[in-house]
Amino acid sequence: MKLLLGSLALLLCSVGIAFLLRWFGRQERTAASYVCLECGRREWREHDGRELVSSSLDDDGSAFSQRFGAALPPDHAHDWMIAGCIFNGNTIAYTGDTARLWIEILPRLADSAGAEALFREAIALTSERRRELIDGFVGALRGCGGKQDEAFSRWNTQRRSR
Ligand SMILES: [Zn+2]
Repeated sequence: MKLLLGSLALLLCSVGIAFLLRWFGRQERTAASYVCLECGRREWREHDGRELVSSSLDDDGSAFSQRFGAALPPDHAHDWMIAGCIFNGNTIAYTGDTARLWIEILPRLADSAGAEALFREAIALTSERRRELIDGFVGALRGCGGKQDEAFSRWNTQRRSR
């Protein structure tokens, strides 16, 4: 009887420990659309904590990379930035539209030499500095409607005079 109770207690302890390990080791599962700031590729990616568990192609970025691909190293490692919403369990958070606007606006600028120079400048930076530059660009051109070319020219002049 004592042996049976001892075995039962041991079993309950093992189950309890396994449950606690599972609970505390639980990773946060997220899903979002990611855009590579260098080649324009867009993927739907799901992560368990930091680990990528699945990805599917939404856009191969060919429109962007055909325009700027000559300046891009062929073996770039992708610089992913979330575009739009991130889904986390039952919650959804909006992360902004910076990545999407960068990919959409840059190829359409009338000043194609200026756009190309900005792209070359961006890919030569570290990922963190690249985000600062792109944030500045998107912040200056967002909501300009049909005046994006003027806004680009003004932003370029202002930042060079600093
Ligand atoms: Zn890429």
